[in-house]
Amino acid sequence: MLLSLVVPCYNEEQALPLFMEAVAAVRGKIDASLEFCFVDDGSTDGTLALLRELCRKHPEEDIHYVSFSRNFGKEAALYAGLEMAKGDYVVTMDADLQDPPSLLPEMWEILTDGTQAYDCVATRRTDRRSEPPIRSFFARAFYRVINRLSSTEIVDGARDFRMMSRQMVEAVLADREYNRFSKGIFSWVGFHTKWLSYQNVERSAGASKWSFWKLFRYAVQGILAYTTIPLYISSFLGIMLSGISFLALCFIIVRAHLWGDPVAGWPSLVCILTFLGGLILLSLGIIGLYIAKIYLETKKRQIYIVREQQ
Ligand code: UDP
Ligand code: MG
Repeated sequence: MLLSLVVPCYNEEQALPLFMEAVAAVRGKIDASLEFCFVDDGSTDGTLALLRELCRKHPEEDIHYVSFSRNFGKEAALYAGLEMAKGDYVVTMDADLQDPPSLLPEMWEILTDGTQAYDCVATRRTDRRSEPPIRSFFARAFYRVINRLSSTEIVDGARDFRMMSRQMVEAVLADREYNRFSKGIFSWVGFHTKWLSYQNVERSAGASKWSFWKLFRYAVQGILAYTTIPLYISSFLGIMLSGISFLALCFIIVRAHLWGDPVAGWPSLVCILTFLGGLILLSLGIIGLYIAKIYLETKKRQIYIVREQQ
């Protein structure tokens, strides 16, 4: 049997050699041949050169790579890697050893123990200790919000470290949307998934590619891709406010008839106007975000562009 390792790499020249070592250390425990599918996501350091060298130096190994024409993001890289993989089982993992290769034998056992009970082994980390507190706070808030709003479950702390059967990989590949959110897609396609937990591991070398804003955009993207409930919320708010202002109007008319209106109430008017204006803009903004997604989706843009491959 063949197990494909799909590894997105963006400026990972320092981490890659460590990754190869760590995999070499566990491969004896996996009863399959390995195929390496690296995706160089437009790295600006020596990652591509390193990948070329890996292929050249180890002709006995089944190593392939594609290199993108620019940085398309991890989601696109994962997609390209899954397309490239030929294995009966495919595992997606980061190059920085934050997805510990030492878990691979256990994942492999679970999937291939002959009972066919699971199609996928997914992993989640159980703590966020090494993270800045503010980042953990927003991460938690994100998972709470999205799971309230969406019927597709997005597991808190889930990593993109998964081993999947060929059948599941085909299902994920069939979903050719441009605005990709893997955590959602993996959950949406279903199949029997076994969850493994592990302690968070520090990055082995190099730096994280995620800034706070990049993560924020990723979170918004996830919510937009997996629920339309924000649209309902803005309509609901609109109806509520119209109702309230209608009642207030009746009240004011009656009061003015009974007692007159001695004070010109412009401050309250301004407050109400700006409040309503804000809400209208918010609702338009939410609608706009969805339209933007529709726009990008209808363009049927390529998910990635390959510059070099082997
Ligand atoms: N990555 C990528 N393209 C990007 C950003 C990241 O292919 O635009 C890869 C990166 O090389 C690594 C994985 O995605 O293998 C996870 O990235 P990182 O370790 O920076 O994220 P973190 O672990 O900090 O969430
Ligand atoms: Mg990492």
